Amino acid sequence: MLTPSDTARRTATIDVAAVLADVRGFKTFVSVQTLHTLVDSLRADPGFQINEVGTSEGGKPIYHVRFGSGSVKVLLVGWIDANEPISGLTAFSLLTLLAARNPGLIAADVEWNLIPCIDPDGAALNEGWSQHPFSLERYMRDFHRPAGRDQVDCSFPIKHKRLSFASPVKETRILMSVLAEVRPAFYYPLHNNSGAMGAWFEWSKCRLAIDHPSGAITPARGGRATMAHWNQSRFRRTVR
Ligand SMILES: [Zn+2]
Repeated sequence: MLTPSDTARRTATIDVAAVLADVRGFKTFVSVQTLHTLVDSLRADPGFQINEVGTSEGGKPIYHVRFGSGSVKVLLVGWIDANEPISGLTAFSLLTLLAARNPGLIAADVEWNLIPCIDPDGAALNEGWSQHPFSLERYMRDFHRPAGRDQVDCSFPIKHKRLSFASPVKETRILMSVLAEVRPAFYYPLHNNSGAMGAWFEWSKCRLAIDHPSGAITPARGGRATMAHWNQSRFRRTVR
């Protein structure tokens, strides 16, 4: 039977503005090493459960951090796209707030699960621009995003009509194992707009046009440009 305090906790909503007021400002993006050093330091805090759930293709550790025991299981995933370091700041900030027992987060009936960095190889390859004062030249030289089929988000197995794909990359297999273990009610891969590439849209037929205030957009044109850009990535995983 629920006690009044259980009921209060389960109906508590997170005041996002109040929580954000406690987030410290950052002058630079965090590196994978900085984030993983924070994760390591949390092993001393009994509120956290930290498991190394695997290693990347390049041998770097991938962690699953769990905090709290609420009834709503949440799973957040950092660096789901290698070139999007705002997700690293989000992961760093969430861990810092939980370690400080932020009242707004603690009051919610949530079991927090976080993979701080699911693609440490790809994230590190972007550090040539993300860990230095920003310049367009550095961004262009050191931008890295894997080819579509090698991206963690895009590499889940699928079988639909004549479409069959059954060889996810290693990092996706690790994410699948955490999803199966946690079975989250709320799953949110952390993205950010990638700066120079504009807005995103997805389509299933190349002839489809999207209504937009600026007029109809022909998705195929933008899509080809994007893929050509990715294919210039200087790092490729072995095609399996
Ligand atoms: Zn993204």
